Amino acid sequence: MARKKQFKAESKRLLDLMINSIYTHKEIFLRELISNASDAIDKYYYSNAGHVDPSTFEIRIEPNKEARTLTISDTGIGMSKEELEENLGTIAKSGSLAFKEQMENNKEHENDVDIIGQFGVGFYSAFMVAKELCVISKKDGSDEAYKWISDGDSGYTIEPAEKETTGTTIILTLKDDTENDDYSKYLETYTLKDLIKKYSDYIRYPIKMNVETSKIKEETKDSDKPEYETVIEDQTLNSMVPLWKRQKSKITDEEYNQFYKDHFYDYADPKRVIHFSVEGNVSFTALLYIPSHVPQGFYHQDYKKGLQLYCRGVFIMDHAEELLPDYLRFVKGLVDSQDLSLNISREMLQHDHQLKAIASRIEKKILSELTNMLTKERETYEEFWKEFGLNIKFGVYNNYGMDKDKLQDLLLFYSSKDQKLVTLNEYVNRMKEDQKDIYFVSGSDVNLIDKLPIVQTLKKKDYEVLYLTDEVDEFVMQTLMTYREKTFRNAAQGDLDLDSEEEKQELEKAKEDNKELLKFMKESLHDQVAEVKLSNRLIDDPVCLTAGEGLSFEMEKVFANMPK
Ligand code: ADP
Ligand code: MG
Repeated sequence: MARKKQFKAESKRLLDLMINSIYTHKEIFLRELISNASDAIDKYYYSNAGHVDPSTFEIRIEPNKEARTLTISDTGIGMSKEELEENLGTIAKSGSLAFKEQMENNKEHENDVDIIGQFGVGFYSAFMVAKELCVISKKDGSDEAYKWISDGDSGYTIEPAEKETTGTTIILTLKDDTENDDYSKYLETYTLKDLIKKYSDYIRYPIKMNVETSKIKEETKDSDKPEYETVIEDQTLNSMVPLWKRQKSKITDEEYNQFYKDHFYDYADPKRVIHFSVEGNVSFTALLYIPSHVPQGFYHQDYKKGLQLYCRGVFIMDHAEELLPDYLRFVKGLVDSQDLSLNISREMLQHDHQLKAIASRIEKKILSELTNMLTKERETYEEFWKEFGLNIKFGVYNNYGMDKDKLQDLLLFYSSKDQKLVTLNEYVNRMKEDQKDIYFVSGSDVNLIDKLPIVQTLKKKDYEVLYLTDEVDEFVMQTLMTYREKTFRNAAQGDLDLDSEEEKQELEKAKEDNKELLKFMKESLHDQVAEVKLSNRLIDDPVCLTAGEGLSFEMEKVFANMPK
């Protein structure tokens, strides 16, 4: 009997800590073990400088319900007795990291090395579901195999073992089910298939499993009543190459769209696909989608923004919020980076500099795509605007207006000119020579605004007016204050000073002539109005109400509707 060795003290402490805190989902143990197996195959491949046949590489999953074991084996580099002790007896010692550094000194392989692992806590996650772990390993180039066994608590033993092929086999004896925890599910084919699809689909080596399937008996194939039989089929459960890692020019629209619908649960094709890679201080690939319509539950408080996060093709988490600003919360997609740790947690994301750098590149890219769409595909942009314009407006005044400069040119407003949506730039470009301000008028809908006396007057004098119909519009104007040095001016408020000298004189005269009438009207209306004035503002209507210099009518409405 081999002598039992204790885990190093700090390992034991970390073991407890890790199981209870870093990993919130027990199921990720499988992802960790598969990613280790994949690393081990990488190492085997690179240390043999490619003189091996990659077609023999595989990771195999074998559930055994009777024995209550789940076995994961690989054809990787294997571990010697010392390595078993070093790597599995000491937590937070990342063999992968050391290996990577070693390989980096060897310039020949420079860009080929792509190995997961910065923290070295991955392997221990198996203790979240296993009451005992047995690792049998045979190192590449050695005749001896060793067996490492541990229950996680009381230490581990290492003894010689029998193993024919190079590589590692890990046997998990699953914990007993409890009221809250179902460990037996990790022996079910469909659970395993699901987990592999979810977390490890893009592992570059085949993940294989013998799967029972029902098939038509060969000899009854052509008969009217085909008979079925249960056969065991060796299936590869992962698709191995992630879509986003493939060459852009070789991916069809259909593939992009299908991937979107499968991954982000939409029934409609996206409006835009943005697929790009960045090399540099932080390297990453992003595959982003602008949906063609507002996502389900978008205005519900449970809606989660964010992108999926992958590290070297391994799924880390859904809805990484830090990757998207709030005003782009409708964007779906994923980011894959080799510069992040596989064990990064949500709490760590907030402080991760690399993640911040990625987020800022993503924001820039999306905004430049939208600008492009606006200039080159106006119709498409207007469709986008109808679905998501409100978010962009929100972006202008949210965050103390910090983002207004990068968003103002993406804004569209309905205009009196040709009854179309216009950009602020278009408006200012065709402003009349004598026009100082950008005029806008608010109201609940375009048709009502269009009938307002002041709008009629402005139109008659050939001034363009923006029609603001969203409650947030006036906040947007207040945040922007100016555009290309032109002030935003609510045309329904105060005096626009549009009259010529001649018109002014005429008005003065009319006021004088009707002094008594105006006085009588003011007295009759008492304090329901502040003032009764004659005005050149009116074209067809005999009378109109205007707001003074304070709050506009629309703002008053917004405030009146706010919860008290
Ligand atoms: P990491 O993968 O981040 O290095 P882990 O805790 O997941 O940390 O694994 C610790 C170490 O154990 C690895 O670095 C590797 O050296 C070794 N190891 C784990 N699983 C295997 C395996 N299947 N084959 C070979 N070595 C392995
Ligand atoms: Mg690992």
